[in-house]
Amino acid sequence: MRCAVGCGFLQRGDESGRGLDDVRGDPSHPTTRGAACKRGIRETADPDGTRLKRPLVRRKGDLVATTWPNALERATAGIEAALERSPDAVAVLGSGQQTNEATYALGKLARGGFGTRHYDANTTLCMASAVTAQYDAFGSDGPPPTYDDIPNADTHLVWGANPAVSHPVLFRWITASATADGSQLLVVDPVESETVDHADVHVAPDPGGDLALARAILARIVERDEHDEAFIASHTTGFDALLEELPDPAAAAARAGVSHAAVDRLADGFRDRALVYWGMGVNQSVAGTATAGALIDCCLATGTLGPGSGPFSLTGQANSMGARVCSAKGTWPGQRPFADPSHRKAVAEVWGVPPSRLPAVTGPGPVGIVEAIDDAVEAVYAVATNPAAGLPDATRVRDRLEDAFLVVQDAFHSETVERADVVLPAATWGESEGTAMNMERTISRVRAATDTPHGVKTDLEIIGELATRVVPGLFEEPPTPEAVFEEIAALTAGTSADCSGVSYDRLEAELAVRWPAPTPDDAGGYRYHEGDPDGENDAGGPAGDGTGGASSWSFPTPSGRARFSDAMPRALPEPTDDRFPLTLTTARLAESYNTGVRARNDDLVARVHPRTATRTLDSTPPSALEGRSESMGPPSVRIRSRRGAVTAMLDRDSRVPEGVVWLPVHHPATNELTVPAVDPRSREPHYKQCAVTLEWGP
Ligand code: SF4
Repeated sequence: MRCAVGCGFLQRGDESGRGLDDVRGDPSHPTTRGAACKRGIRETADPDGTRLKRPLVRRKGDLVATTWPNALERATAGIEAALERSPDAVAVLGSGQQTNEATYALGKLARGGFGTRHYDANTTLCMASAVTAQYDAFGSDGPPPTYDDIPNADTHLVWGANPAVSHPVLFRWITASATADGSQLLVVDPVESETVDHADVHVAPDPGGDLALARAILARIVERDEHDEAFIASHTTGFDALLEELPDPAAAAARAGVSHAAVDRLADGFRDRALVYWGMGVNQSVAGTATAGALIDCCLATGTLGPGSGPFSLTGQANSMGARVCSAKGTWPGQRPFADPSHRKAVAEVWGVPPSRLPAVTGPGPVGIVEAIDDAVEAVYAVATNPAAGLPDATRVRDRLEDAFLVVQDAFHSETVERADVVLPAATWGESEGTAMNMERTISRVRAATDTPHGVKTDLEIIGELATRVVPGLFEEPPTPEAVFEEIAALTAGTSADCSGVSYDRLEAELAVRWPAPTPDDAGGYRYHEGDPDGENDAGGPAGDGTGGASSWSFPTPSGRARFSDAMPRALPEPTDDRFPLTLTTARLAESYNTGVRARNDDLVARVHPRTATRTLDSTPPSALEGRSESMGPPSVRIRSRRGAVTAMLDRDSRVPEGVVWLPVHHPATNELTVPAVDPRSREPHYKQCAVTLEWGP
């Protein structure tokens, strides 16, 4: 399992007990019924990358092998030295690549053991804007629809995402539905992606034009009097205030760089049952929360909620949802509000720590945490994450990490491991017991099909052993996955992410259970409905048709109503100019994930529209091309931003818009260029746009 579709796998260990020799989709898994993709299987069964097999410590500048007790003592000494100064002097960076049990344990150690506000996870780098928008609109994180709604949708609107590459199994379900009679696939993306190949309509806004386009669609829906006044009046707040600020549709379309007709075509999609999927193209922006909110607004204004419709944020990492629900990152476990005294007290009681030890605020996000090294932060404990390659302005990030006492816990070698003072080698999928949550809130067991490699421990074992040394008594010794899951489930009881009806025994019997599941007989479905979503409501019409009565919908907000957002387009943090006239954007490759430590092609390829290449490069002296022959492969180009320069092979590709340089998000060189601006609400970095130049390479 490598992405948050959450395919169920059958795994068979090899005869030596030291690896997997067969991984395939599990036909009995109720969510994915045997489906799986090549990337997920290959990265699980036979990953690239260099496996970490021994604890390492830095001695005289080099990382050298050592024993587990020595590595843990070194880690403990560095963390304790920082804690003597302040709880906030220890930073913890977690991941969406851990089990629920491990991510919960890490959060408990960070927040309840160390008491640091400097704790976050790489889920903030891809999902935080969607999460923030969902809390704003619905009072709870997680999409209202589920996979069950996909076959019932008439319009599938994919925005700033490329699920043909990033979520292959999910995309099979989308295309199966979108190719039925009367159904359609609309795609909004500046680039002609692999998903666009299947689209009925492709709209390509300028990079950074998403919020203007989303507002243009809503303004056009209102102008055509196609908003659902009954739904708005009964189940929402904030629409009148938003109306006052809505732009003229034509002006907003021009600002987004699209035609008025394109806005009309997208607005048409909301006449039918529409599912609106979005991904990092929306979220990874200084306007990420605002744009995700604007997409949700289009759904609320048209009553596009209920079976076969609604906003459906696409989650990237395998257990991003679990990190959000369990890890005490942005909320306490179970989506308990961070600042609420009663929830803080409840969590502290379960953890056996004084409430005063829990930090008062969630922290500045991963970019802010690294920025705090040399100031408030002295030690960093990074688990299953690779900030040295994955954070924007990577040269500066690496310089900062060099200045910290750095403990890295991971399964594979990475750019962050290279800078560590202590390396703790961890187990990975297929070697660890636990659970994970997919993007539609379904919890499944993950299982160890092979022994943990010699010299390696599971994440939960390592976190438990470190806690025993630094904060004795915080965990049972050793913490077991099942006991930890029971603690998580109990802490979620009565919350909007109630998993208290889920147990290992239930998962053994049912394989997968969707939350909220407050009793052993409950499982979640479409969210925020009261009663049968397909039945008659007390206003006399089918639920979800916009005439729904108060009994049909209830949102976990103070008013019980969903909330419209109010953000309007704002300036880009780094617009192009005469010195840096091109826009860099980043996106995924089919065969890679995250920073690519398990599946990386070391060649960096820059995709550039042929006319942009001609205009930009062919006017410069081609000294680098002298003596080149075809057999030497594509020529090198140098891409330069205000923060650095990288060399890449040039791929003249008309699927990339003019004026844009496209680089893969997975390559460690890409973030030498990206700008470290973040969304002010979600703290998610603005990876999708910065200003660059292009010239012939060395
Ligand atoms: S779609 Fe995602 S979860 Fe399913 S097999 Fe592929 S990578 Fe794994």
